Amino acid sequence: MPGKSDMPGKLRGVVAMDGPSGTGKSTVSRRLASACGAAYLDTGAMYRAATLAVLRAGLDEASPAEKIAAVATTADVESVTDPAAPGIRLAGEDVEAEIRDVPVTKLVSAVSALGEVREAMVARQRRMIDAAVASGGGMVVEGRDIGSVVAPDAPLKVYLTASDEVRAARRRRQDAKAGRAADAKVVLADVQRRDRLDSTRAVSPLHAAKDALVLDTDELSVDDVLAALLGLVEERGLCAP
Ligand code: C5P
Repeated sequence: MPGKSDMPGKLRGVVAMDGPSGTGKSTVSRRLASACGAAYLDTGAMYRAATLAVLRAGLDEASPAEKIAAVATTADVESVTDPAAPGIRLAGEDVEAEIRDVPVTKLVSAVSALGEVREAMVARQRRMIDAAVASGGGMVVEGRDIGSVVAPDAPLKVYLTASDEVRAARRRRQDAKAGRAADAKVVLADVQRRDRLDSTRAVSPLHAAKDALVLDTDELSVDDVLAALLGLVEERGLCAP
């Protein structure tokens, strides 16, 4: 556990946070970024916003892949990377709530499995990372392929895991908080379906990068995970005093 977790200093470079849904990635990534004066990039929100654009264009899972890719790759998606108030805009509109709704959640894995879509998103993500790092700062980037594809040179890569049941329970609590009540079995089935699609797709499937530190969060609170991450950041000298 970090000795100076109250004053960790300012993060330099990228912390790559990967793992399936419901592992607490978003919460700890935001908190880590806040604690280290870094930016925070939620790449899942980018794929979700592109998927919302696909739905708004009247397309669905049965539509031709080229049409889906054409809309998703040109969608005007803008990420707000302030960890205190992160957000996502589609053509200037705040879509943070809508991208978490069922229609987007159902379609997002299919859209993000398309090679063209991934290429476009990865390019955008790298541009944002480069801009943050070039100005001497740091960025905590969360997703599924950050350590393996988007930022393979990141000086710290963490892969969070948890059992299906724990992840589904967390997702359900999160949904309930946001006013989206759902049956436990339905949430578990959805979490498993999305993991299956994300980890078996041909392009950049979900997996821990070889040099990622795997952290099982079943028995860990958010505070425990954050303390472990702050310890790692400090140990690796990633913070400017
Ligand atoms: O993180 P979140 O659950 O919001 O991500 C939604 C979906 O976006 C994932 O299930 C996955 O299909 C896709 N995704 C991805 N690569 C990322 C981040 C998210 O394919 N880096």
